[in-house]
Amino acid sequence: MCNFSPTAYYINYNHHIVAQLRKMSTQPEFKIEHRSIVQTKKEPELKTIQQIKTLGEDYIEEEVICQVQITAVQESNPWYYSQCTTCYKQIDQVESTYRCSKCNNRIVPYPDKKFAIIIVAKDETGEINILLMDRPIRKLFGKTVLEMEEEEKGKFPATFKTMEKGIYTIKLEIREFNIKEKEEMYIGNDIYQGSYMVPKMKERKFTVQQATEISQAQSSGTSIHLDNISQL
Ligand SMILES: [Zn+2]
Repeated sequence: MCNFSPTAYYINYNHHIVAQLRKMSTQPEFKIEHRSIVQTKKEPELKTIQQIKTLGEDYIEEEVICQVQITAVQESNPWYYSQCTTCYKQIDQVESTYRCSKCNNRIVPYPDKKFAIIIVAKDETGEINILLMDRPIRKLFGKTVLEMEEEEKGKFPATFKTMEKGIYTIKLEIREFNIKEKEEMYIGNDIYQGSYMVPKMKERKFTVQQATEISQAQSSGTSIHLDNISQL
């Protein structure tokens, strides 16, 4: 499901993409450690942006879902980061050579390239920045960085701009800096075009309410209804 789940990647505070973010000046280093979906404790819930901004510490390293309109796609260059082929950590080019400091300064001649682009997203309750990672971008556009790089001759792919004004359902990974530093830039790990999750969620809520009403109305025979609830 997730290519890099057992590993971690880092995005430095000084990274060209992340450096564009507002309100980052207080943070010396911006570290993103990827967690596998399996390790997530909570079932991701649909939240408004207002709710996401006020999540408590129990949401650190949990996932939530938001349904948003993408208002802007930042034209960053590059629009991807390079990754060590051994440890899968982010690496930067130093004097035209890629080296991984985690792997004893090993030269990485052909680093993997992963998408990372920043979007601005809003709903009726507020606005946040989202760093869309490799998986959601690949999913939406069906291409790898290398394929897009070749097509666009290194330029910022104009196709990313087609996301603007669109409605998307995005799964966010809540990080410590989102809660403790009140950093309003979130990691986007998964994306669906449209309001994919919402009908499903409403339906689920409705069914639970129905079952509760029935079981209250009929004081006996509740076990059947409870069974129904547990199957939801
Ligand atoms: Zn490495």
